[in-house]
Amino acid sequence: MTPKQRLYDILGRNTAEALSKRDFEAYYACDKAAALKKALELIDNGSSITWGGSASIDEIGLCEALSAGDYDVIDRSGALTEEEKKAVYRKAFTVDWYLGSANAISADGIIVNIDGTGNRVAAMMYGPDNVLLIIGANKIEPDEDSALIRARNIAAPVNAARFGIDTPCQKTGRCMDCLHEKCICSYVTLTRKCKPAGRIKVIIVGEDIGF
Ligand code: SF4
Repeated sequence: MTPKQRLYDILGRNTAEALSKRDFEAYYACDKAAALKKALELIDNGSSITWGGSASIDEIGLCEALSAGDYDVIDRSGALTEEEKKAVYRKAFTVDWYLGSANAISADGIIVNIDGTGNRVAAMMYGPDNVLLIIGANKIEPDEDSALIRARNIAAPVNAARFGIDTPCQKTGRCMDCLHEKCICSYVTLTRKCKPAGRIKVIIVGEDIGF
């Protein structure tokens, strides 16, 4: 085990334990393969599933495995028009599972997300009975303040660049606290407890995944 893997192992296990105290159903997986195995154990065959924009679920191979398996996958990339996209976003409230990640997490288990239109965080907060978040240990920050800083100064500019969204942070590399029409931080959420208990499942992965 490299020094970095050892650090992620300690941080990942401790953060999973902190999440459990906040009523999340939390797991630690040492690598992407273990995270994929755990995710597929949790999701029953035949489940209806959709997801928000997340590199993490893609990077562990979950989207591919579900699309190839015995599941009812509603993939938003198939929606071409704005109306079709809106319909998929609304459907995300009634599927069996909603998948995603976080933009940052504090070591004591507070999950931070930013969202331009709010569809993703809304589904996480009051959508399906089961939400599964795959979070790389690279997103663990010492506390809530530093997690917010990460979300707006690392996750936001990288995601804006990834999707070609012309936000000020994409040009400067740091949050300019904008009110730009394409701002991807219209909604900045802190999820500090899971209610009802166990609805949100979290797998912390001991590798660099996502942004
Ligand atoms: S500049 Fe705007 S879009 Fe970029 S991180 Fe700050 S608030 Fe979000």
